[in-house]
Amino acid sequence: MKRITNLIWVVFALLIGLSSNSITSIASNANSPDKMEVHFIDVGQGDTTLITCGGHAMLIDAGDETKGTAIQNYLQKQQIKELDYLILTHPDADHIGGAPVIITKFKINQVFLSDYERDNTTYQKLIQALDYKRQKPVTPEMGSQYSLGTAVITILAPGKEYDNPNDSSVAFIIQNGNTRFLFTGDAGEAAETDILNQGIDISADVYKAGHHGSKYSTSEEFFKAVSPSFAVISCGKNNSYGHPHAETFNKLRAGGVKVYRTDEEGTIVAISDGTDITFNVPPSESWKAGEPTGSSGTQQIQNKENEASDLTAENTTYVLNRNTKKFHKPDCSSVETIKDANRTDTTQSRDAILESGYVPCKRCNP
Ligand SMILES: [Zn+2]
Ligand SMILES: [Zn+2]
Repeated sequence: MKRITNLIWVVFALLIGLSSNSITSIASNANSPDKMEVHFIDVGQGDTTLITCGGHAMLIDAGDETKGTAIQNYLQKQQIKELDYLILTHPDADHIGGAPVIITKFKINQVFLSDYERDNTTYQKLIQALDYKRQKPVTPEMGSQYSLGTAVITILAPGKEYDNPNDSSVAFIIQNGNTRFLFTGDAGEAAETDILNQGIDISADVYKAGHHGSKYSTSEEFFKAVSPSFAVISCGKNNSYGHPHAETFNKLRAGGVKVYRTDEEGTIVAISDGTDITFNVPPSESWKAGEPTGSSGTQQIQNKENEASDLTAENTTYVLNRNTKKFHKPDCSSVETIKDANRTDTTQSRDAILESGYVPCKRCNP
């Protein structure tokens, strides 16, 4: 008898379902995750990721100064008028340069910013834009959670203060249904170790390779804990940092990870239905690492189209002024006076720079 009653109920529900899908849609909202889209937008050397879920949207980083308008256009094409969150992982030019455009053009509910402050014009422009829109950015607390539709964001870092911007990156996991994506900005090995030591589960299906695939990130233990199926590398074609580095690539390859990269494939979109993840392009098969830095100086210095000053304590060897053709030590007092448009932070050897026609600054004698 009970079976028959059930059967009648099923037929009844189907009929209702056909005439109006209200019952089924309520049921699916309660039980199944919204579709989540993760757009790794091609911004050359730099980072920008758009995530949408259930009519909500967030942006992580905003490329360099030259990319703000392109990102704005991309968001508008996706019909985005409002952002639940803007996460600026850390204040390097290739992550915050385009942010003033986004902050000015979109309504943003909450801006998250690393606590590392910088003293340069790129950072000042960001602060001015935030002030102008009366946005009070906050550094999110480690372990705190935020929702984006059915997806849940868990903050993993920074858990303490660091003496360099990269390690100060805001890092988080976003989980939709059973699928998980990990973002660590440009956090290096020290910050990765601190994330590991918190004991929060950082396993992820998709790992946005830390620091554009640099060898200073994706340390062995960290990579093991993440154990991703897919990795996405956001970097510029022939970038002067040599990203992605061969060391990182070897790890990903040995781990059987499918790799997607913006320098080869342009914007990459991953879609999660809560169970499965699909990509808009096939994985890269090239396994081609960036050129070792300092090898072909002239070409690298002239190839500046997608270059951004990702100034890191351990990476940068010299700062070039492309206008005066002088080069400086990163801590030279003249460096702060170089206009962003003329400045290049490089990891190249002194010889490679000299070979490219640059002359040493008389003040800092690099
Ligand atoms: Zn970067
Ligand atoms: Zn950085």
